[in-house]
Order: sequence, then C-alpha cells, then structure tokens
Amino acid sequence: PSSHRYAALQQIQRRRPVATTAAAPFDELWASDVFGLQAMKEALPGRIFKSIQRTIREGGKLDLSLANAVADAMKTWATGRGALYYAHVFYPLTNSTAEKHDGFISPKSDGRVITEFTGKLLVQGEPDGSSFPNGGIRSTFEARGYTAWDITSPAYLMQTPNGVTLCIPTVFVSWTGEALDKKTPLLRSNAAMNRQAQRLLRLLGETDIAPVNSSCGAEQEYFLVDNAFVALRPDLLLAGRTLFGAPPAKGQQFDDHYFGAIPERVQVFMQDVEQQLYRLGVPAKTRHNEVAPGQFEIAPYFEAANVATDHQQLTMTVLKSTAKKHGFSCLLHEKPFAGINGSGKHVNWSIGNATQGNLLDPGQTPHDNLQFLLFCAAVIRGVHSYGPLLRSVVATAGNDHRLGANEAPPAIISVYLGSQLEDVFNQIREGNLQSSAKGGVMTLGVDTLPEFTKDPGDRNRTSPFAFTGNRFEFRAVGSNQSVAGPLVAMNTVLADSIGWIADRLQSQLESGTALGEAAFNVLQQVMREHGSVVFGGDGYSSEWHRLAVEERGLENLRTCADALPVLQRQEVRELFERQGVLSAVELESRFEVYAEQYVLAIEVEAKLALQIARTQVYPAAVRYLGELGQALQEQQAMGLHPNLKLRNQLGELLEQLNNGCESLDQSLHAAPHGTEAHMRHCADSLMPLIGDLRVAVDGLEGLVDDDLWPLPSYQEMLFIR
Ligand code: ADP
Ligand code: MG
Repeated sequence: PSSHRYAALQQIQRRRPVATTAAAPFDELWASDVFGLQAMKEALPGRIFKSIQRTIREGGKLDLSLANAVADAMKTWATGRGALYYAHVFYPLTNSTAEKHDGFISPKSDGRVITEFTGKLLVQGEPDGSSFPNGGIRSTFEARGYTAWDITSPAYLMQTPNGVTLCIPTVFVSWTGEALDKKTPLLRSNAAMNRQAQRLLRLLGETDIAPVNSSCGAEQEYFLVDNAFVALRPDLLLAGRTLFGAPPAKGQQFDDHYFGAIPERVQVFMQDVEQQLYRLGVPAKTRHNEVAPGQFEIAPYFEAANVATDHQQLTMTVLKSTAKKHGFSCLLHEKPFAGINGSGKHVNWSIGNATQGNLLDPGQTPHDNLQFLLFCAAVIRGVHSYGPLLRSVVATAGNDHRLGANEAPPAIISVYLGSQLEDVFNQIREGNLQSSAKGGVMTLGVDTLPEFTKDPGDRNRTSPFAFTGNRFEFRAVGSNQSVAGPLVAMNTVLADSIGWIADRLQSQLESGTALGEAAFNVLQQVMREHGSVVFGGDGYSSEWHRLAVEERGLENLRTCADALPVLQRQEVRELFERQGVLSAVELESRFEVYAEQYVLAIEVEAKLALQIARTQVYPAAVRYLGELGQALQEQQAMGLHPNLKLRNQLGELLEQLNNGCESLDQSLHAAPHGTEAHMRHCADSLMPLIGDLRVAVDGLEGLVDDDLWPLPSYQEMLFIR
C-alpha cells in the first residue's frame, strides 16, 4: 500500500477496544438523564404535576404560570447534575438536529451572578436559525422564527466531555405560525389522524375513546469504517459515500456476516451506545450484524411516533459521536459502497389508543376484526391514492442509489399483506365472503380472523410497505433520513382515508343500512378501487416493474428529480390542506428545500469526483505509467520482448479519465436555471458522468501499483477493524 495507507493500517493494528465506564445496573441507568414524568412528579407540587400530565395526554398549550414552575424545577434538576447551559433542540428540514445553547447564568446589577430559567425561556426561545434552509417561508413572512418546548417530548441532559447541557425538544415556527421544522407537521398529522380515527370508532359504536396516537419503531442500519481510512477518503468525509472503489475479491456473497459474531471492537462500541441511549430513555432493544461486511443494525422498542422520532434523531447523533470515540466513522449514508448492500431505516408504524388498543391488530372477536379490516383498508386506500407522495418523502440523493437496486424495495409503492390477509381482502372484493349480523356485529363467514403472524415469505423484504402482523413496515426509508417526513405522510394519508371510509359508513348508517352490511360495502369498494396496490410477489423482479406500471397503473419514480415534484401536485396540496397538516406555502417550501438539498448533494459529489480524479488518481496513474515505461525500455534493451498490453490499457484508461473529467467539468458549469430543470440536470447529466468517471478510476485501481494507489480500498475499509 501507499505510505499513507500503510500508516493507517499500522494505526489500526494498534487500536484496542476503548474501555467504557463500568456498566451500571439497568435501573440506575434507565432514563437517569431524562426530566420525564417521574422526575417531574418528584420535583413538582401535585396540582401542577397533574395539569402537566393532562396537557401531555390531551395536547394543548402550557400556560405561563405552569411553565414557570416547570422551568424552575427543570433548572434545579439540571444544574444539580452539572448543567451550565440549556439548549432548545429543533429539527430543521435538513434531516439534522439543531441546537441553540444559552447559559443559565444571569448577572445582577450588584455584580452577583445567579442562575435563571423562566417559563418564558422554556416555551419560547428565539434561535438565530436564519441560516437554515426554509424554502423562502421566512422571507415572505417574518424574519425570525422561534422555538417552543414540545411538552410531549421530555427534556434530557446531553453529556459530553466538555460538560452537561439541558436539551429541550422544541417545535420551530415562524412568528406567523408557519412550520419551519419537521416536528410541527408530525404533531399536526398525529392530531389529524386522531380526529378521523375518533370519528370512525364512534361510528363503530365505541363510546369510550382515548386519544389515538401513532407509534413508530425504526430500525437503523449503518456501517462502521475505521477513522484512519476515512481520513484518506475525501469522498467519505464530505459526501458520506465512496465515489470510487473497485469491488473487493470477496464481497457479501458468502452471507457470513449477517447474524455472525459481532467483532469485539464493535461490540464495545455498541455497548457504549446503548448505555448512553438508556440514560437518555431511548429503549434500544436489538443489535446485530447486517448483510454487508462492516454493516450493523440497532433497533429500539417502539414508542409514540413523536417521541420515537426525537429518539431516532438522538440515536443517530449518539451513533456518530460514539463511533469517533472508538476510532470509527459511523456511515449513515444509504449507499456508502457500490456493489455492497446499502442501509435503510425500516419504519414500523401502527396506530392505537388506551381504550381500543392497537387498531391494526386483528384481535379476537368479530367486532375487533371489523375494526381492524376497516383501518387496514384505510391504509390500502391511502397507499394507493398517494403512493407517489410516499415515494417522494423518501426521496434523497443517497436513497436514489438504493431503491430499485435489487437490495431494497423498488421505487414503486405497493402494499404487502401476507397471503392469508390478502386472501381475506380478495374474497371481500369478489363478494365470496359475506357478512352476516351475529349478535349485532358483523362476521365474515368466520368468527375471528386467523392470526396474521409474520409471514415467513415476508423475509424476502422486497415490498416497500408490508403488513407484519399488527403494524405496517415502511421499508423504503433511507438510513440517513429523519423518520418525521415518512410518518407525517403516513399519518396524513391514513387520516384522509379513515375520513373517506367514515363518510361512506355514516351516510349508509343514516339511510338505515346495518353496520355489518355498510362496513362490508365500504371494504368492497376500497378493494375494487384500490386493490391493485396489493402485491405479494417479488418486488425486485422486472416482471413486477412492467406489470405495476403497465397493468396496474402504479408509478415508478426512479430519482429525486422524478419524485420530489410530486409535492407540487394539486391532489397532494389539497390533501395536506384538508387535513390541516401543511399549508400550500409550507408544502411548497418543503419542495424547495428538498430539491435544493438534492442539487447540492449531487454537485458536491461531482466536484469531489473531479478533485479526487485529478489530484489523486491521475498523478498516481501517470507515475506508474512512467515507471512502467522505464521498465519496458530496460527489458527491450536487454533483448527481451516486453508485453505492451498493460501499458496500452493504462493509456486508454488515462484518456478515459481525462475525457471524463472534461465532460463532468463542463456539465457542472452548464447547470440550467429553475429548480426542476436543475434537478433533472443532476439526475440525467451529472450522475451518469460521475458514473462514467468511476469506470475509468476503478479500472485504473485494478492496474496501478498498489504502492502508489492513494485511496484505501474497499477490501481495507470493509474488512479491517
Ligand atoms: P425485524 O428486523 O424482524 O423487522 P425488529 O425487531 O428488528 O424486526 O424491529 C421491529 C421494530 O418494530 C421494533 O422497533 C419494534 O419495537 C417495532 N414494533 C413492534 N410492534 C410495533 C407496533 N405495534 N407499532 C410500531 N412498531 C412496532
Ligand atoms: Mg430488523
């Protein structure tokens, strides 16, 4: 290897697992850094605690006198644990987590300094968030945005080597109330879903109905690569993925990594992550190796969608910072290595409440079954009506490499029900399963539905949207994404469909149709109009791609340039407005920001590819060509007959490299005006040109003397840790 790579290898040889603080007993660890209900109960007078509890349960605003009491208790709790600063944490449209830090200290006129934290500072901070992309919202309205505590998500302490900070999860809105973040729409979408679910449950005869909430359990895949290698890869460092790299002799063909023993250094890293997450009250539950070498997964136990989303962001933050401590880089990019499986984030999602339980659970009685079938039908209708929207909320530059690449679900959004449930719905469509009133409730020829356990056939994972027994699993989400966007879309689409079903049920009931029959009619209508979105076969097959588009009329939106403009469609605008989740302006701003993020990501990659090709690969290849030419001449002088094939191949690849750089450079400078045209340019010109350049570079990697090759190889990055 080159001297740099050699030094990196030596550094890695010397690494030892980083000792973490001795594991404390679980009860001591669990949520010890969270100012949650338990901590509030201990710190607040009973009367105040009860109103807080009520506000959390029922939603609504925290009034100032309560806020003052909470703020004071929070400050005492946090400063007692060493916090000098507090931060309003918010979730801008960039998928990242942002923080604005402020000190608790407050100087007095007599020269003393006290710590202070008022209710006003808790419920209303004013971050200098003007550099966050907001798609023009704040320039059209007010210049400033403010953050306010989302009382349903508890405050917590972030421990870093430099100190302790009290973190307060907040919404981020403009003064005129426009959502500038990902949390505000998530809360609104949950409220919309609750409104419609309440309606439907009432029509089904329920009288005692607790607030309905969505739940989420997100499985996070990631890669660990030694930091010493990453430091030598400008592409990994800045773009999060390798733009070049010849395939290793051994890839993932042997399937020997998945569920194999976890390497010691990695295991120590994982334990460190989990301990921190436990302190933060994040219920990390499973860990294992993933399919690709160097790839791993962490999944929590599911929680209310809003809290789960905050916890997911925390998980990503903790993964990245802890990796550094252990000499790793945690790669969350959807496709860090070409030809090797990428990373996704399966979003497990269900809805339910304290009185009726999980509404996507088939249940034990005919009544439960009826309820389940209606909510499940609402999902089917929603996914069919708004499939392109569900595609657009997973559209990121990184995820474009994964979807449809025979390792992740296709870009075509369909629903997998499992064979038993699909059969039930098909029979409803055909009218073979008849409903009958039995003791006032509908039955479907069978008393209770069979238990829809996870279908073994489901392990092939080729469906983007799969029913897995008591929840749906949205598998097209990218590993680097916030889960908020997908959850907003799922909740909103579901709210709309539940509303549609409730409307039809209501009008039939009002005209005297019995509940069982009315429900059956609606189910049948849903299946007749939307059943074509249900697909149980192999989603990777080319046959499905053809069938889905040509016969079922589903859309195949391959890239961000195809998928993001869906956010501008009229039916999508109307959906979000109707459900009160996003105004037209808010939606438009999201399109602008996501489109801009896409363009920026591709342009950074193009510039990096040029830089690496010109300043690292070309010099190495030319140096080798020179050495080779010299050697060939010497061979000739000795009267040998040198083989010139290698030299000629090198020459050709170098020409390809130069031409590739030239074309990419020109294309970079030929970006058209207008958001959509610019996105198209990235997808149709820059991306293929980066790919062309890669062919030349990877070809050279296979020929050039390893002692001269500047970039750590796939083999090194994937197998050495
Ligand atoms: P698999 O890898 O088989 O998909 P995992 O156990 O890795 O399963 O992840 C499943 C995720 O789904 C976990 O986060 C789990 O808590 C979550 N989950 C289970 N039940 C529900 C539910 N009713 N609603 C939402 N998420 C759920
Ligand atoms: Mg899993």
